[in-house]
Amino acid sequence: MTDEFLPFSRPTISREAIEEVVACLQSGWITTGPRVKKFEEALAVYVGAPRVLALSSATAGLHLALAALSLEPGDEVITTPMTFAATLNTIVLAGGRPVLVDVEPATYNMDVNRLASAITTRTRAIIPVHFAGLPVDMDPLYALAEKHGLRVIEDAAHAIGTEYRGRRIGSFGDTQVFSFHPNKNITTGEGGAVATRDAKLADSIALLRFHGMDREAWNRFGKTGNQHYEIVTPGFKYNMMDMQAALGLHQLPALDGFIRRRTEIARRYQTLLADWPQWTLPGTPAYPHRHAWHLFTPLINPQAANMDRDAFMQGMKERNIGTGLHYRAVHLYPYYRDHFGFRRGDFPNAESISDRIVSLPLFPAMSDADQERVIMAMADLFQRD
Ligand SMILES: *Cc1c(COP(=O)(O)O)cnc(C)c1O
Repeated sequence: MTDEFLPFSRPTISREAIEEVVACLQSGWITTGPRVKKFEEALAVYVGAPRVLALSSATAGLHLALAALSLEPGDEVITTPMTFAATLNTIVLAGGRPVLVDVEPATYNMDVNRLASAITTRTRAIIPVHFAGLPVDMDPLYALAEKHGLRVIEDAAHAIGTEYRGRRIGSFGDTQVFSFHPNKNITTGEGGAVATRDAKLADSIALLRFHGMDREAWNRFGKTGNQHYEIVTPGFKYNMMDMQAALGLHQLPALDGFIRRRTEIARRYQTLLADWPQWTLPGTPAYPHRHAWHLFTPLINPQAANMDRDAFMQGMKERNIGTGLHYRAVHLYPYYRDHFGFRRGDFPNAESISDRIVSLPLFPAMSDADQERVIMAMADLFQRD
């Protein structure tokens, strides 16, 4: 094959964004400063949240939102096994015990009908993950959380721009954590943000993200800054840089256009692959929503395909097409099996998805011809004519 390698994801960075990064570099202020503040304000407007705090990653956001709970040994946090490891890792790092709820077979989202039976007297929080940018059924989830007095930290790493029943993720509920990793729907290189309606949590994250310094200490070397600061708690180093925010300031206005193009590509996959017995295509819930289409993740049917998921990924790579694996069910990783006693069989829906899921190429700059190459490579691999 002479075709160039087609990756499964690639960020779209405008010339204006590049010029903003250069301007930032030339301004003499590279780290946390005015551009981060501006980006936070723009994010707050876009997602519809009263407070947004920019951070070095979504992992940092999950960690700080959980750290603010001051979990005691044995305290439980409920989440899903179909997520990136960071969701569970940060529960453990904050001193909690991850409790998992199996997912729905069609949407791969936490099955909210199973949530009530996972709540115990030790439960402190719920972390729903809006998988691929498809919103979890939030009304019944929040009703349960309210009834039991639980914090809800939405892992919205895939879900900036996602809407649930006409409301944007971030514009209702408790706390949301967004990611700006290069594969996500908008990027700042690495980066993330927490949106919250809880002013106390926002203050705590503002403190913990920068060493536990008690005032806007990033500005202490500037003209208007205060040269003194106090350390009121041992904090982390989770601040976002202006260099990163410079990118974000130009990514955010492009987001709705990115989602429109992602949606076109995803719908075309649905149409083109509709009658292929090799695939079970991702389903959508009945409630009104806007899918952000961060990922397009069908499940391979190994019998009809005559190969398993890993062989499919390898075969596509040999045909110059990149694919992704999001995700293997987290409870099957050695750490989680060994420390929390999870076993294969505990969450059958997640396990079936984990064994068969694959992320096909999907990014805004992908052309229709790129997508046709994906389909042709697949047809060749499956020996379909
Ligand atoms: C990417 C991702 C994270 C972590 O985001 P970072 O910004 O890379 O730390 C957390 N949860 C999910 C579901 C993700 O996809």
